[in-house]
Amino acid sequence: MDHYDLVVIGSGPAGKSAALQAGKLKRRVLVIDKSERLGGVSVHTGTIPSKTLRETALNLSGWRERAFYGRSYRVKDNIAAGDLKERLHHTLDHEVDLLEHQFARNHVESLIGAAEFTGPNELNVRTSEGKSVRLTADKFLIATGTYTYRPDNIPFNGRTVLDSDEFLAMAEIPRSLIVVGAGVIGVEYATMFAALDVRVTLIEPRDTFLDYIDRFTIDEFTHHVREMGLDMRLGSPIEKVEDTGRHIEVSLQNGRHVRADMLLFAAGRMGATQNLNLGAAGLETDKRGRLSVDRKTYQTSVPHIYAAGDVIGHPSLASTSIQQGRVAACHALETPTLPESPWFPYGIYSVPEISTVGMSEEEVQQRGIPYEVGMAWFRETSRGHIMGLEHGMLKMLVSLKTRRLLGVQIVGEGATELIHIGQAVLNLKGTVDYFVESTFNYPTLAAAYRIAVLDAFNRMPIPEQYRVSPKSKKG
Ligand SMILES: Cc1cc2nc3c(=O)[nH]c(=O)nc-3n(C[C@H](O)[C@H](O)[C@H](O)COP(=O)(O)OP(=O)(O)OC[C@H]3O[C@@H](n4cnc5c(N)ncnc54)[C@H](O)[C@@H]3O)c2cc1C
Repeated sequence: MDHYDLVVIGSGPAGKSAALQAGKLKRRVLVIDKSERLGGVSVHTGTIPSKTLRETALNLSGWRERAFYGRSYRVKDNIAAGDLKERLHHTLDHEVDLLEHQFARNHVESLIGAAEFTGPNELNVRTSEGKSVRLTADKFLIATGTYTYRPDNIPFNGRTVLDSDEFLAMAEIPRSLIVVGAGVIGVEYATMFAALDVRVTLIEPRDTFLDYIDRFTIDEFTHHVREMGLDMRLGSPIEKVEDTGRHIEVSLQNGRHVRADMLLFAAGRMGATQNLNLGAAGLETDKRGRLSVDRKTYQTSVPHIYAAGDVIGHPSLASTSIQQGRVAACHALETPTLPESPWFPYGIYSVPEISTVGMSEEEVQQRGIPYEVGMAWFRETSRGHIMGLEHGMLKMLVSLKTRRLLGVQIVGEGATELIHIGQAVLNLKGTVDYFVESTFNYPTLAAAYRIAVLDAFNRMPIPEQYRVSPKSKKG
């Protein structure tokens, strides 16, 4: 029986980064994944495919240029599912190739098969050829991610009623689409297909959506996507979904009906732990299949077994999973590392993008922090004019007492990249003065930071050291 320093179950972002870290520390590490190809949900059905699709949709539809050339402008007429998939296969192959190369270079071993615990330090792996491989390890990392939640009352058929894992395999682009669930995945796909001129209805049972994002920011986003033609039905619980053979019909509890060619059900995911035989390792999950861990070390209640990534729940992002996997591996292999920064960004790749870091205005108010708000609109920046941006905004929250940056919210082109400037200042405990003192490249969208800051700065008391004395005025 082979013995390892660390065995990682799952090759998504958390598993991958843990394994690479262990490899770099020259430990014997094995990654097990039950899917045919390494990379996890992130590479095959989640992050990378959806972002590739977004880029393809925006490029082929000419969406970014429509402010100049009009709403009827297209780079390609009659965009088909094949057009969207072509780039997808290319990107995915490249991602898997890169991952295999990284594993090989760092001496990370891999095994394709489904793993289950047979004891606290022992696993059995059923390979696709039907063989059983038994192995032991000092430490384990469970990074098995999630699978889609498929309630019984939704008539999934793999063609016109799909979950988010099946969605990208669609044979044809529908003329009309219903998306159920206004979480990140639902909002991203709904707006991407609206940009492709598909008639999209987004249904959400609750009155609000993306509740962890600043409300003003969500209002700005909602206004924009409604202008794009997205039909948003908030506060609309579903009574029934029917596949009539000719279309999909959703009956809402408020008595209204929505019909479309296709339905994407994107309301929830469950922790992929049901086949791990966790009882043999002394572990239990919550009712959504999730494991709880110490959020500093990622140890479960059984100290030599770690868990990271979506299987431990919020925030369930590839970005945070990568960090968690590395921290878990360092702790498991008794290697000192730096703690994670307190603020990580949220990136929502809808059309337009949303990205935030730090506190929302609601959170600042709840904490009772006296604050000032700075606003900038992308159309106020020269780069915004050059790019023909009609929409887009950056909102900044600043403490009146300490002058420290408290949060940044961005909606619009490049939001997920721009946010990192705010993140750096926030995590380095920087103040509003940094932006006032600094020169920014011109013309850039990043100039929106300076505009927003000056908006706030001009309403804030000037600190003593910046006051101009009569003497210095003369000089
Ligand atoms: C449509 C969509 C879009 C997304 N977009 C973004 C985005 O833009 N940005 C972002 O940061 N995040 C995004 N996410 C979230 C991101 O994909 C996840 O946070 C990330 O994939 C979680 O990584 P993970 O390491 O937990 O495992 P996963 O990527 O979920 O991979 C888990 C792996 O474990 C394997 N496994 C499960 N059980 C077993 C077993 N018993 N034995 C062996 N192997 C097993 C699975 O086969 C799978 O390969 C998106 C998700 C979806 C669905």
